[in-house]
This record gives sequence, C-alpha cells and structure tokens, in this order.
Amino acid sequence: MQPSLAVVDDASFDEHRPPAQHPERPERLAAARRAVQALSADVELVSVPARAATDDELARVHTLAYIEQLGRTAGKWSYFDEDTYVAPESAVAARRAAGGGVELVDALLTGRAKRGVALLRPPGHHARPSGAMGFCLLNNVAVAAAHARACGARRVLILDFDVHHGNGTQEAFYADPSVAFVSLHQFPFYPGTGSVKESGTAEGRGFTVNVPLSAGAGDEVYAAAFSRLVAPLASEYAPELVLLSAGFDAHRADPLAEMRLSAEGYGALMQTLVAALPPETPIGMVLEGGYDLEALEQSLRAALSGLLVAHPASPSISSASDSTHAVELDHALASARAFWHL
Ligand SMILES: [Zn+2]
Repeated sequence: MQPSLAVVDDASFDEHRPPAQHPERPERLAAARRAVQALSADVELVSVPARAATDDELARVHTLAYIEQLGRTAGKWSYFDEDTYVAPESAVAARRAAGGGVELVDALLTGRAKRGVALLRPPGHHARPSGAMGFCLLNNVAVAAAHARACGARRVLILDFDVHHGNGTQEAFYADPSVAFVSLHQFPFYPGTGSVKESGTAEGRGFTVNVPLSAGAGDEVYAAAFSRLVAPLASEYAPELVLLSAGFDAHRADPLAEMRLSAEGYGALMQTLVAALPPETPIGMVLEGGYDLEALEQSLRAALSGLLVAHPASPSISSASDSTHAVELDHALASARAFWHL
C-alpha cells in the first residue's frame, strides 16, 4: 500500500511578497511544491485546504494586542523590523498559514494521514507571542502545537532543525511540559538565543532542549546529535504528535548560514527520528526557512522521503569526529541529562 502524506497549501501564501529583493520570497514555495509533486508516483498526496486561523486559535500563542496590530497592516506595505516586511496581503496570508498548521494537526490527529507537510509562508518560528520577528509574522508551528493540546494531545514534541534558533516557539512553551521543544541550530548566530542554559522554567524545566552548534557542522555532526540526543529523547517523551519546524537553511548551499548538511543528510535524520518512535505516532512538517531554491527542493524531497520510510533501521550511535563539534554535542548532552535518560 502506498504511504499517504497530508499536504497543506494555499494560493494566499504566494501573495506575501517582498517590496524589494529578499531571501524569503514566493519562489521558495514553488521549489517546495516541486519537491512534494516529485513524490506523487509513490505517495498518496492528501490535499488539506488551509483556512484563516481564528482569533481564539491565535490567542493560544499570541497576545491580542499583536493580533490586532497585525490586522491593521492589511492593505498596506510596511515593516515590523528591518528584516520583516509586510505586503498588503501578508496579514491574510499569515492568518491562513497559521490556520494551515491547525488543519495539518486536525488531519494527523483524525488519522487522515500519519505524515503531513504544510507548505507555509510566511514562516513562523521567530514570531514571538507579542510580535513579528525575523521574516515571521505568526508562529505557525506554535499555533499548531497549541491546537493539538486543545484537541486533547497530552504531549507534543516540536523538533526545530532550521539553522536559526526557534526563539519564538521556545518562548511560547518555556513553562509548559506538555510541549517539548528541541532545537538544533548554528550558534552563536541570529537571533542570539538558544544556548544550552535555556532549558525551560517552572513546570517546563527540562522540556526546552537546545543543541547549539558552531558553523561548519555537516551530516556527520547532525547524525550524531540525532542518534545520541534527539532520538532517545523523543522515545522517552513519547509524544502523541511530533511537529517539525522544518527549515532547510542548514544545507551547505544556503546563502544565509554556514552549516554543511546535504539533502541526503536531511533524509537520514528523518529516518533516525522515525525509527525512534512507535509507528503510529503522527509526524507533521511545517516549513520554515531554506533560501537556496535547489537545496530547498532537494532537501525537502529527501526529508519527506525519509519520513515516509515504513521500517527504517535504527542507526548506529555515531559521534562527531571533529573535536569542536564533539565537545559542543557532549555539552548539550550533559545539560539535557539533568532531565532525560540520554
Ligand atoms: Zn532559518
């Protein structure tokens, strides 16, 4: 039987367009769509329409003041910060992107598919509860996770492998043990957060796990991080839903960052994740960054293929062979071991 993949997409996402040359542009989505279509011979693609997220759905993550502020940008060109543009149609697109994440969760939790991908623009993981930041207007993955909780999922794991730290997502669930947040990212780097010391607060202590890595980490380093930290942690947490904040800007060709992942590397990481979880655990991918169009297309295709492998072999536990990254990974592991049996 063919595996099935829920796919969220919406024409409004193309209407979020920059006023001048900008890496976060509509052509990214065309590349992502090609990646999904390339799977169609072997995978049943289940189309899931997006819709506007409601105020109540957004307010699980964002302040009402910010939701209203974003709404007032409708029909105008503006900027929230020097990186974060707003087109006349962006407020509508952002609300439909967040609603697309909600619809992805519904498709996964009701069993329409066990795997899914939401091809969303604008991206979301830097958006803070109180405001836009770093190309992001609404925090799509956070709104999706909060919706899953509202639907009764007891534990949601958000795994963020965008090359930038998902500061907005971390902030949204920093005190919440029911949404675990694990991020691998270049560090030090934009947005400046994501050190191993940031591990959650109050009831949420230990449920934020940061894996900061210096520039130059490639397939081997990421494979070691997944086999030694991400996979055992995911297994121990036993999430009822996994959401991937899926940025592909850690690819070696990406113009914004300095990591060295290959497309095949992303595929291997997804297989490692799948092997660590019971087969019935739903996994949904939410698109974040990735600014080289060809790298984005190939990496997304490889990552989705990895997610859809029915019986992936458990990888051998590998170590990073270069000493700088080995030390960094050991440091992240030592910190996480205060809370997890890794
Ligand atoms: Zn990024």
